[in-house]
Amino acid sequence: MREELLATARKLSELGLNQGTAGNVSVRDGDGFLVTPSGMPTETLTPHDMVKMHFDGSHQGERPPSSEWRFHRDILAARPEVGAVIHTHSMFATTLACLRRDIPPFHYMIALAGGDSIRCAPYALFGTQALSDAALEALTDRRACLLANHGMIAVGRDLAHALSVAREVETLCEQYWRALQAGGPVLLTDHEMQEAIEQFKDYGQWKTAPKK
Ligand SMILES: [Zn+2]
Repeated sequence: MREELLATARKLSELGLNQGTAGNVSVRDGDGFLVTPSGMPTETLTPHDMVKMHFDGSHQGERPPSSEWRFHRDILAARPEVGAVIHTHSMFATTLACLRRDIPPFHYMIALAGGDSIRCAPYALFGTQALSDAALEALTDRRACLLANHGMIAVGRDLAHALSVAREVETLCEQYWRALQAGGPVLLTDHEMQEAIEQFKDYGQWKTAPKK
């Protein structure tokens, strides 16, 4: 699992979704989870550097966990169907996050993120409980959200799924940004998005969180 976590962190760099020490990844592991360490470029990391954490916030080993361990912990604790969490400062998601705007249903693939929008969580300082609380709220019934003036979070049933959600969200953000440059997209109607969301319910065996 340590190797798979590191491979996912490296893949995010290769794909250009993260640079240097930005971004972090976690995966459920036994009675806790594994998270990438704080402030180390992925190229220098070994599987041994992945940090084992418990849900009370304690960790094992000499490496300190990512400064964003709180939202990784809180998402994995609150969402039993989620097995992995990816955080990036990818170019287009972060650009839109700096505009502090939700991504509206301009394309049916928005349904891949679980609903008819990708929300942007209000701004809070990195590494804080306030940021984690805002992220959890923005992720209600969703597999992704933006973090105002910061970046994006994508979740999945496992690392491969979370990575595919992160890639798709970044692509959607680029497409939305381009459509905004050309005068703004025509949005899908509620009915058209509901049809797409229904189709996605059986897609990839993902079980959506029960509606409140
Ligand atoms: Zn960040």
